[in-house]
Amino acid sequence: MCIFCEIANGTIPAKRVYEDDQVIAFLDVAPTSYGHTLVVPKAHIDSFLDCDPATLHHVMDVAQKLARQLMSNLNCDGINVLTNAKEAAGQTVPHFHVHLIPRYEDSAKEN
Ligand code: 5GP
Ligand code: ZN
Repeated sequence: MCIFCEIANGTIPAKRVYEDDQVIAFLDVAPTSYGHTLVVPKAHIDSFLDCDPATLHHVMDVAQKLARQLMSNLNCDGINVLTNAKEAAGQTVPHFHVHLIPRYEDSAKEN
């Protein structure tokens, strides 16, 4: 079973910041910046390319809500919202996920 499926079913621990019946969001174990969050469908979907429209819509809806929360809670100046699809594009975990990476005008505040 893949690592994000194991996080979704609770076998592997993670710092969860959001959960509903279809989606889970948790902090990245190797954050690019403080607050780096991953938004993940609970069902195993290999990548963005394989995601059905309804799930994609819900994942992005949750991603937007969490991005807005990060903006106000962390007082960051911007946020990268991205997904890597396939190994050649940098995907290392073969379970669809959207990265939320808070950004700061002063990069010294990123960590
Ligand atoms: P990708 O390279 O596939 O776009 O992103 C995978 C992300 O998952 C990386 O940023 C990596 O740090 C994170 N990651 C990998 N394994 C784990 C884990 O076991 N727990 C958590 N919280 N994040 C993980
Ligand atoms: Zn999986």
